[in-house]
Amino acid sequence: MTITEFGNPILRREAIRIDTAEILGTEIQTLINDMLETLITKKLGVGLAAPQVGISKALSVIAIRKSEHRPNVKARDLVIINPEITETVGRRVQLYEGCISGGPGKASLFAKVPRYKRIRLQYYDEKGIKQHEYFEGLLAHVIQHEVDHLEGILFVDKVRDTKSYMTHKEYVAYAKAKLARKHA
Ligand code: ZN
Repeated sequence: MTITEFGNPILRREAIRIDTAEILGTEIQTLINDMLETLITKKLGVGLAAPQVGISKALSVIAIRKSEHRPNVKARDLVIINPEITETVGRRVQLYEGCISGGPGKASLFAKVPRYKRIRLQYYDEKGIKQHEYFEGLLAHVIQHEVDHLEGILFVDKVRDTKSYMTHKEYVAYAKAKLARKHA
């Protein structure tokens, strides 16, 4: 799979909603498997939306894994189809994020984006079952980034603190230092 990058018009289009009767079909199931494999084996990041692989469909895959600067997260894979945030809890907080489409691998930029800590999401899973679930922490954060992708919104659109931009290298150093302070 080839990753589309910032500037590609597909990333600015609203993705087409998937007919739920087609979720169990070969086309969507193959797409889900290929996207999860691309995300996990290429270690691209924590989430990937279909427009980022050149397909304008309302589907994103999420794969949360422990990493050096995220040793405490619970691993989870999640497939969200036709997702809709139905509720947000509290005020937004500024959280760092980057995007796979923002530059190849370690060349990507990170910045602070206002995100809700807790959300409720309505979506269809990979089995075609309608779900309505609360998410918090990293999952809630990643889901908001992914839902934006399916609406043609990129994280750079939402950055308010433009001085917060940093490279992948600096972000990893920042995240590790933050983690060390937390455990000090
Ligand atoms: Zn992204």
